[in-house]
Amino acid sequence: MGRTQRQRRRHSRPAADTQLDTLHVLYKQLHSLGWRNETQLSAFSFSQTGRGLCSKTQCFRAGDELIRLPAGCLISIATLESDEEFKALFDPDLFDKDSRISFQALIACYLLHLQHLHEARQESPFAAYLDSLPRSYTTPYFCAVSELQCLPEAILERTVSQNRQIRDCYQVLKSLVGAQHCQCCGQRYCEEIWTLAEYRRAYFAVNSRSVYLSSRQLYTGRSHFQELLSGTNNLALAPFLDLFNHSDTVQTTAELQLLASSKCQDYVLTLDSLAAAQLKPYEQLFISYGALPNLKLLTEYGFYLKRNAHDYFEFSLLDIEQLIAHNKELSAQSYHRNIFKFIREHNLMDQMFVHISEGCSHNLRVVLHLIFKQCAHFPNLLNQIAFGDASQFDDVQPELSYLLTHKINEYQRFVAALEKLPQLTESGTVAHGYLLECLRYLHDFESTHCASNNN
Ligand SMILES: [Zn+2]
Repeated sequence: MGRTQRQRRRHSRPAADTQLDTLHVLYKQLHSLGWRNETQLSAFSFSQTGRGLCSKTQCFRAGDELIRLPAGCLISIATLESDEEFKALFDPDLFDKDSRISFQALIACYLLHLQHLHEARQESPFAAYLDSLPRSYTTPYFCAVSELQCLPEAILERTVSQNRQIRDCYQVLKSLVGAQHCQCCGQRYCEEIWTLAEYRRAYFAVNSRSVYLSSRQLYTGRSHFQELLSGTNNLALAPFLDLFNHSDTVQTTAELQLLASSKCQDYVLTLDSLAAAQLKPYEQLFISYGALPNLKLLTEYGFYLKRNAHDYFEFSLLDIEQLIAHNKELSAQSYHRNIFKFIREHNLMDQMFVHISEGCSHNLRVVLHLIFKQCAHFPNLLNQIAFGDASQFDDVQPELSYLLTHKINEYQRFVAALEKLPQLTESGTVAHGYLLECLRYLHDFESTHCASNNN
């Protein structure tokens, strides 16, 4: 689940927001579905995060419930399975076991369906929720091409992979419903309505705003979509609840609770721990989307946290190859290709990272040691070294410092290139801030772990 609209604002106290004005319709709609807002939650625009939630009246301590939303308010597999009009668009005879889509991709499609009903007939049951969704998302995926050219490989890799997933799923949807015309307006699916551009936004709405839940608790009937879906369908969109922002200073749990009185279920979020003893009324309430590093927060949710407690900085084998190519001293040496082959075959390039308090990861040490600090290149010897006594890997300090300097220079070039562009999109602005935060992190790591007397 996630948030956009984190652009910094200058208000110090919660302020009204034009989009928040539409939320009273959502309150009403959820109220009619049984939501009682026991914790008196209200949405405001906060200086740090933009739109977020607080309680007007209640204090919160560890163990307190943050929100209790009836399961009927969620958009889940149960919602899709009970929507006959939507199901009728998907003929199970056309499902192909070799071209399945994720449940996330199907919910994104359902959002387009709801949006079209909302626009064409003003009759979507989730109209107020649709109006509460952000108009745009700030993940690097929505960066301009000129901005993408100024971003590091790690971000581009993720963006390219997201693009492939979105296009593939869209093609499957097109093959299933593309021959049909909407009954209300006669327009063709995946041509005039449900366009790829709309689908991309819907995909990120689900990507950044859905919550995890056990769908088996919600729906056990025969599934119309079973042969279409790959993976699980353990997620749902949670109107209003998805306005909670993420923090690395809280722990929260979410669960479906069966109510004995009504046999209905509530989706309940509980605050397990927080940094302060308690939160007062009007202080923003946060939840945890998980112990996520900034790269993940940025590429999936479109924001990052300053001094994120769960952050680390990851390197790739390509970084080390580029370091060798650009460093005079290192490029003068020769490196046996068996060593790189061995590293790849044993996936030692996974989990090569630096962490501000834990230092350099084991795999990064091993890889630097194998490449720079030993002469063997026969696999059996490499094996003995790589999986032998860990203390031998402590000798990689100069190379680690080179690598950090190399990365800092690279990120400084990216920042400078972004700053040269005449203007930045919202996504570009967030990515720029993320790069500065990475530089701050790498500099802090350098001064903590690579002081010159270690060389
Ligand atoms: Zn229509």
